[in-house]
Amino acid sequence: MVKTTKIISVFLSLIFASLVLSNTERLEGKLDRNLDSLMKKVVAWRHDIHQYPELSNREYKTAAKVAKHLTDLGLEVKTDIAHTGVVAILEGDKPGPMVALRADMDGLPVEEMTGLPFASKERDTYNGQEVGVMHACGHDAHVAILMGVAEFLTSIQKDLTGSVMFIFQPAEEGPPVGEGGGAQLMLEEGIWKDKKPDVVFGLHVTNAPHGSIAYREGASMAAADPWKIIIKGRQAHGSRPWDSVDPIMVAFQMGNNFQTIISRKLDLRESPAVISVGSIHGGVRSNIIPDVVEMEGTIRTFDSGIRDKIFFEMRNIAESTAKMAGASVEVFLPNGQNYPVTYNDEDLTKRVLPSLKKIVGEDLLYRSERTTGAEDFSFFSQEVPGFYFFLGVNKTDADPLTTSGNHSPFFYIDDGALPVGVKALSHLTIEYLNGEI
Ligand SMILES: [Zn+2]
Ligand SMILES: [Zn+2]
Repeated sequence: MVKTTKIISVFLSLIFASLVLSNTERLEGKLDRNLDSLMKKVVAWRHDIHQYPELSNREYKTAAKVAKHLTDLGLEVKTDIAHTGVVAILEGDKPGPMVALRADMDGLPVEEMTGLPFASKERDTYNGQEVGVMHACGHDAHVAILMGVAEFLTSIQKDLTGSVMFIFQPAEEGPPVGEGGGAQLMLEEGIWKDKKPDVVFGLHVTNAPHGSIAYREGASMAAADPWKIIIKGRQAHGSRPWDSVDPIMVAFQMGNNFQTIISRKLDLRESPAVISVGSIHGGVRSNIIPDVVEMEGTIRTFDSGIRDKIFFEMRNIAESTAKMAGASVEVFLPNGQNYPVTYNDEDLTKRVLPSLKKIVGEDLLYRSERTTGAEDFSFFSQEVPGFYFFLGVNKTDADPLTTSGNHSPFFYIDDGALPVGVKALSHLTIEYLNGEI
């Protein structure tokens, strides 16, 4: 009798174990079976969104399409967050943690030159200039992928152990001058005030090998701090420089001196940094020394100590160099929208890798270099552990060295790589909710 009971209990525990194990497999299997029909919709959504891109904080039509889709799925949808943002929460039938998934929605002031049948012909005004508008960063793919993930996860709502917050974010590329926007404003407007997720996932398409996933643990993308300096001197005839306080000469010296911060003041063994001057404006003709020069640029860092040091040294150099020449200076540092380091939680990164490897295989999962580009996903992953990765969307036979990158008017997305994005976000969500990540 004792023996029989023991056998039965071992048998039952085996069945129980296989049921627990198979919940994830069952749900991921369901996605595989429905993937072809789901991807037809995802691709159609992407082409539509691609054809009608909108600039940052102006994603009205895109947001309306997203909101309608989420509403049709039966979700309660919040709109107009941080201008045009859309958020919905899917509550699973069983209690558990919350996963946030984020897609950015904005296009860029770039005139599309891909020649695709669904290429954008949209135009808008940017900084007072008429411009073409294009999804040159691939955010059309991010929106369509997340709409597909929302559709699939809603279909398995009864089997979800926890909840999922879908975040469709405006203005990742930066709000127009004088406006707030993006992830930071969504947080300021309280999207995580009542319900804070346990984890946040996001992806970005890029011109890497077809269907590949690239990631980096820790500080994966740089903090970006735009800066502006106004140098005020004294105007004079170009033939009589001794009558002037020449702000152009001060700007030359400042630009040189800034580079000595990188080469002589920073311990670059800790982490790299970049100071770039992006624009210098001063003067109107060859024989007038002007009274004012405006200089703008950007700083990229991966470490808050190094960032603070650069801020201190730049201000010091700007003030001292101006003083030596008898000029005055105003320093705006940072100037406008700045971004923190995009940090991938190191422990979380370790835990998601087996899941991603299952999807793309060992050969297509890369640990990438640090990126000196910045991402406002960083504001989300400052609040809760986050993982942000890159999805390669080149054509299958394309050489990544010769394809056009993000922000190019030729940036091209192969639809055949998008299922990897849908699977990756869906699998990470299911496995996190099931306590396997
Ligand atoms: Zn971009
Ligand atoms: Zn982007």
